[in-house]
This record gives sequence, structure tokens and C-alpha cells, in this order.
Amino acid sequence: MGGMVFIDLRDRYGVTQLVVDENTNKDIFALANDLGREFVIQAKGTVIERSSKNANIATGDIEINLTELNILNKAEVPPFTIQADTDGGEELRMQYRYLDLRREPLQNNLILRHRMAKLIRDYLDNKGFIEVETPYLIKSTPEGARDFVVPSRIHHGEFYALPQSPQVFKQLLMVGGFDKYFQIVKCFRDEDFRSDRQPEFTQIDCEMSFVEQEDILKTFEGMMKYVLLKIKGLDFPDPFPRMTYAQSMEEYGNDKPDIRFGMKIKNLSHIAKGKGFVVFDGSEYIGGICAEGCSEYTRKQTDELTNFVKKPQIGAKGLVYVKYEKDGSLKSSVDKFYSQEDLKKWADELKAKPGDLLLILSGDKEHTQNALSELRLEMGNQLGLRDKQIFAPLWVVDFPLLEWDEKSNRFFAKHHPFTSPKKEDIGLLDSNPKDIRANAYDFVINGTEIGGGSIRIYDSALQRKMFELLNFTEEEANSQFGFLMNAFKFGAPPHGGIAFGFDRLTSILNGTDSIRDVIAFPKNNAGRDIMIDSPSTISKDQLNELNILVAEKKK
Ligand code: ASP
Repeated sequence: MGGMVFIDLRDRYGVTQLVVDENTNKDIFALANDLGREFVIQAKGTVIERSSKNANIATGDIEINLTELNILNKAEVPPFTIQADTDGGEELRMQYRYLDLRREPLQNNLILRHRMAKLIRDYLDNKGFIEVETPYLIKSTPEGARDFVVPSRIHHGEFYALPQSPQVFKQLLMVGGFDKYFQIVKCFRDEDFRSDRQPEFTQIDCEMSFVEQEDILKTFEGMMKYVLLKIKGLDFPDPFPRMTYAQSMEEYGNDKPDIRFGMKIKNLSHIAKGKGFVVFDGSEYIGGICAEGCSEYTRKQTDELTNFVKKPQIGAKGLVYVKYEKDGSLKSSVDKFYSQEDLKKWADELKAKPGDLLLILSGDKEHTQNALSELRLEMGNQLGLRDKQIFAPLWVVDFPLLEWDEKSNRFFAKHHPFTSPKKEDIGLLDSNPKDIRANAYDFVINGTEIGGGSIRIYDSALQRKMFELLNFTEEEANSQFGFLMNAFKFGAPPHGGIAFGFDRLTSILNGTDSIRDVIAFPKNNAGRDIMIDSPSTISKDQLNELNILVAEKKK
């Protein structure tokens, strides 16, 4: 600019403006003119006050008048602009993640992540917890997801598995006499991909002995409060709200309710059946929500909502709506079957007032609740009720111990096989296992499950019984978990714990959309690292050494 060169010099701490004047330093001026984006330089000069200040950056009041300039390394023009509002698409940025990491938002995300890890370590250390590392090459254990396996070269035909979590090790640490354990640790689950999932992710994994559920909830509520205070400046003086699993399913349609807003689901089955509307009459369950102030939704808007609930992931057959007009009249998509008095009953049940819109779904109970929960969240979005700057933490407690699987005609553990039933429900083990409640709890923020844990079984006979219920044969139970049941024979203390998803927690507190934004080197939506190109094939020699023959790809 008229005999002056201005250089934006960026490092981890921000951007500083350097300036060279042609008149005072011809050599440096020439060199400065050759600089390109992302060149690495070394510079010396005098800090001076800027004539035109930039209030938007921390160093905007000053610039550095150069007396020395060296180019340490040149750079090719980067494939996208390295600035906060970049022009690079996500795939491109992931391919060049090291360039993406230079951008301020990503730097801040990782700095936040570091601060959170430090706070958590400090908090737990203060409470007498110690961090213990557990192995990554372990034995395959059923914890709900599929294991990633690693072939053993030395032991022909045998495999290690990568831990889905350090679950059994932390329990064995309790048997080993460490009464307060934690670990910020990588876990690996070979699951189908979803946008907010990573095949490897980080947990804050914790376990304590001589505790009951209340001790765990109090301890980790304390930890979460500390993090919320230090990171977000939010002081939650009261205990976090608690809700039973049953209430959560009934009122929110899922086990991780977003309680930033109401719009609770109401069961309308008892008042909506028996009026000749075959769809409702033939349904196991009819439920609705009340969208406040939405009676003036247009036909187009209600059609869009109908399409929304009919999406395959949601799977409702259709949507019934009732507009509670401002004049007090009720107009519905099923006027043929229901009188004004009938519809008024629905409105009353949903505590609706003139100006509101009732949205109603029907079908089998489980799917309909699930669809209502999605519809509720969608309406929450449309009405701006899900502000990212508002945080609504919650404990969900009293999960069922078991889950019946129609397809395989057997029970699965709702949490994992080491979770203890509630004392008062143990009697149901033989008669009515479906109704047994577990000492299991989840921690939820804003409709996202952030953590979950349980009080464990510590009696080898009860653990054996549990494996039996879960369809393990005695040999399977022994070969997979003999070590655990054996350990329980040597004076195992009562114990329990919890694990928090560290990536998710960071991403929620950070207000970022995806957990990828808070992971330095994440995998993409298809579980690939497109920067290093993984997974990838390995050489014939490697395969031979491992005694592995790769079958032809199935059609
Ligand atoms: N291992 C469990 C999980 O990863 C957490 C726990 O029960 O502590 O979900």
C-alpha cells in the first residue's frame, strides 16, 4: 500500500500486524513483497502504536515496524482460506486437518477441551480419585456394541479386542482395593455410523467402592457443577432435577429428555378412542403434544410436519392436528369423527388454550412415543425453545434392568450385564424379569445423553444368574467372565460408577454442532480418516504373518 507492506502474522495467540516501509528498509521491503499465505517467518522490530486501530482483535492497537525478516519456510496456497469463516467444505478441511487446526475456532475448541480435562482431573484428584490406565488390547466382552478386534501374530487364530470401555477393569480395580478410580480414556465401538458418533471416542470413566447410587449421583453432580461453573460461569445451586425412566418415556417419549422446554406428551388413548375413527380405534396408543401459539400454522406448515413424522427414521403413518382457534373453536383434520366437545377434551388434557395447535400421533406405544419425541424436538426448534446457551442438566434414574428383543426372542442388558437390580426388585428375577428396575442412571444435558452408569453386581452367584438371564450358557459365562466371577469370590466390595462422553460434553458446552469439532483428528461420517486414508488394506506379507486370508467381498 503506497510503499508500505502490511503482514498479518498469525500464531496460536492471535494475529499481529507487521509493517515495512519501503523508504526505511528496501531489502526487507523486497522480501516482504515475496511473502505468500501461510509462509513461516521470523521477524524482529519495534512495537509502535497504530494510526488506524482495529478494535476487533486483541493486538489491534499496535503494529510491529520490522527491522529484520527471515523466511523460514514457504507454503503452497492452501486449499481453503484459513480464517474463522472459512470457505472450505468439511471433507476438504478434514483431508487437510492440520490446516483446519490452524483456524481460530478449532484452536479454541481444543484449548477448551484441554481446560475441561484439566478441571476434571483437578476436581477428582481433590476428591481422592486416582487416574489408572487400563489396557487397550483386551478380550472381547459384550457391552452392547460390536468390538474392534486386533489379530495376534504370535497366537495363531487368536484376537485381542479394543475396549468398548474399561468396564471390567475398573471393577477389578475396586476388587484390587482402589476405592476411587477415574481415567480420561479412549473407547472403541464398531457401530453403525451416525453423525454424532465416532468409532473411537473419549470417556471420563469413573468407579467408586462402598457406595450406593446416591453417593455416585452426588459426587458426579459436584463434578458437573464445577465444570459448568468454571467453563460457562453457570452456578447451579440446587441439585440437578431427577426423573425416572418411566416418567421420561411417558412425558418426553425418550430416555434423554430435553427439559429446556415443556410441551410434554400426553396419553389421549382413553378419550380419543371409540368414536368411529378406525385409525385411532385400532391403535395401541394415541398421544399428543400442544404447540403453543401455533393455531395459525398454514396448510403448508402442517403438511410439512406430516412429512416430517412420515420420514422413515421416524416412521409415523400420519399426523392428526387440531387447531384451537383464537375464537375458542376447534378445527381438526378429523372433524368427521369428533365433535367440538370431544376435541375440547383433548385440548383440556393437553392444557391447551385458544391460539394453540395440538399434534397427535397413534400406533403401537413404543414407536408412537418415539415419533412424538422427535416431533416435540422439531417443534422446539421451530419455536426457538432450544437455545444453545441455556443448559438444562438432568438425571434419569431407575432404568429397567433388561430389554426384550423381539427378533432374537431374548433379553439384553439395558445398560450392561454387570448392572445390579434394585434390591426390592430382586424377587422378580424368576417371575417377571421385564419389570426389574436397575440401579442405573444417565446424565443428560439438553436432550443429549452425556453420561451413564450403575451400581454393580458384586456377588458371583447373582452375576451368574444375570448371565443366565442374558442367555449365556455356563461355558460362555465362564470363558468370557470367569475372571470376574472369580474375583468376586475374594471379598469384592460393593461398587458402582459412571462414564461421561468427554467429546459430547465438550461439544455441548462449546455450542458446536458436531463432536468432530472438538476432536483433533476425527473420522468422517463413514468412519474414515480421510487425511491418513484409513482404514486401508495391508500388504500380503503382513496378512501372511498374521495367518489371515481375506475372503472375497460379499455381493
Ligand atoms: N462402561 C459404561 C459405559 O461405557 C459406563 C459405566 O457403567 O460406568 O457406558
